[in-house]
Order: sequence, then structure tokens, then C-alpha cells
Amino acid sequence: MSKIKVIIAGFKGRMGSTAVNMVLEQTDFDLVGLLDPFTTKIEAFGAPVFNVKEDLKGLAADVWIDFTQPSVAFENTKFALEHGFRPVIGTTGFTEEQIAELTEISCLKKLGGLIAPNFALGAVLLMQFSKSAAKYFPDVEIIELHHDKKKDAPSGTAVKTAELIAENRKSHKQGAPDELETLAGARGADVDGMRIHSVRLPGLVAHQEVIFGSVGEGLTLRHDSYDRVSFMTGVALAVREVMEVNELKYGLEHFLDL
Ligand code: NAP
Repeated sequence: MSKIKVIIAGFKGRMGSTAVNMVLEQTDFDLVGLLDPFTTKIEAFGAPVFNVKEDLKGLAADVWIDFTQPSVAFENTKFALEHGFRPVIGTTGFTEEQIAELTEISCLKKLGGLIAPNFALGAVLLMQFSKSAAKYFPDVEIIELHHDKKKDAPSGTAVKTAELIAENRKSHKQGAPDELETLAGARGADVDGMRIHSVRLPGLVAHQEVIFGSVGEGLTLRHDSYDRVSFMTGVALAVREVMEVNELKYGLEHFLDL
């Protein structure tokens, strides 16, 4: 069986470098290209290094893993699809419209792919459990906690969790009807009446609590990624799965038997 040829964009970053180790460890993956805008190296880990994505045109590769930054992720994913690379995108910050546009391109090109705001299996389960709980606990607040270098807020996972909850929760404003913020932002971001709070502190990796409240009882669901290696089981799974489908998916749950 031929190996899956992989490109990694953002290979020097916290997530990208963890992905490099994962790809090198898999016997059925082959690292064939690396992208970073500022590196002066021409080769690393046995693969050629590129500074601009346009130079990757024509490279014999199957999958484009992306852990870069929100400002370039959309253009990178579009480029990957337009040049025949199946995207496995961990970079966060996509809008609904961007995901819709990329899905349309993938369908036209008949190329599989995945955008996943969280590749940790436990985080995907937390999102699914939250969606189920929302049927019976419509009042909920999300607290996401990340390291202090994270560029976007709220996290893609928190937004995705809120979207899944919204599928089972009737839209309504939570808290007192005459609630007044005496300090702006005290109640967090408002998504359909539920609140998202973003914590940024050194020492953290990626964590999320979903707190449901009801009459006389509460339910708290929590997931912790203590190490970036926690995301790699999902990335490896996605690299194999995108080879089997002809459309871009949003969320790792599409490739899990839940
Ligand atoms: P990071 O350490 O800042 O790494 C990003 C890397 O991308 C940096 O090395 C950066 O280079 C490079 N880069 C910037 N622009 C680029 C471009 N145009 N082409 C190629 N590389 C480029 O960030 P991180 O902590 O690894 O996080 C990366 C992304 O993954 C973030 O969006 C984060 O939210 C997301 N994330 C997702 C998951 C998930 O499970 N889906 C989990 C954790 C994090 P410079 O530093 O030189 O600019």
C-alpha cells in the first residue's frame, strides 16, 4: 500500500512541530513538504521547506495539515483544495461563510478534507455530551481556558460547542431580564443568549468547561488537554479518513462512531 504523502503548514509552531513528530512516527505517512514564511532552512526532517505556498504547486502530496494562524488559514485551505491537496485544518477562526465556500470548492473538486476546531477525542465527546444535555438543561455558560499566546477569542471549540448546543436549545436570553454590566464584558460573549467566557493564562494548554444550571441542580462537563500530543490521535485519524471521502467536513465527529 502506498504511503499518504503529507505537507505541514506552520511546522515550526507549537502544534505544527507536534504534528511533524506524529507524521514521522506513522509508518503509513510520508512527510513530503513543510511551509513556514520566515525559515531560512531549505530542508528539515528529510522534507523540503518552502516559504510561500505558491511554491508547493505541483508537489506530489495527498494531504495538507495546517496549524498556522487565523489570518492565513482560509487562503491556505483554498489553495490546498485548488491544487489537489486534501486539507486537514486545525487552525481556528473560520467564519461560517468561509466554511461554506470551502465546502463548495471541495465538492466541485471531489476532494475530502476536514476543518476541526479541536482534534482531541475527549473534547469532541464533551461537545457531543453538551449537545445532548442541552435538551434538558437549556441554561448554559461556556468557559474556555487557553495559554496566553492564543490569538483568537473565543476559541473555535467554544463556538462549535455553542453551535451544537443551539441545535437542541430554544434561543433565549439568559440571566435577569434587567441585567446590567457595570464593567463591560463582565458577562462574556453572547451567543444566542448563552455566554462564552475566555480565560488566557500562562501554563494552560486547552481546557473547556460547559456549565448547565437548572432548578436546584447543576451539571458541569470539563475537558483538559494537558499536552499538545492530545490532539494528534485525531489528526492522524483525519489524515487517513480524508483519503476516503469526497467532501470537506467540519468537526472531527464526522469521522467518529458516536
Ligand atoms: P503557533 O505556535 O503560533 O504556530 C503557528 C505557526 O504558523 C508559527 O510557526 C507561524 O510562524 C506559522 N505561520 C504563520 N503564518 C504562516 C503562513 N502563512 N504559512 C505557514 N506558516 C505560517 O500557534 P499554535 O499554538 O501552534 O496554534 C496554531 C493554530 O492551531 C491556532 O489557530 C490554534 O488556535 C490552533 N489549534 C488548534 C487545535 C485543534 O485541535 N484544532 C489545537 C490547538 C491549537 P511565525 O511564528 O514565524 O509567524
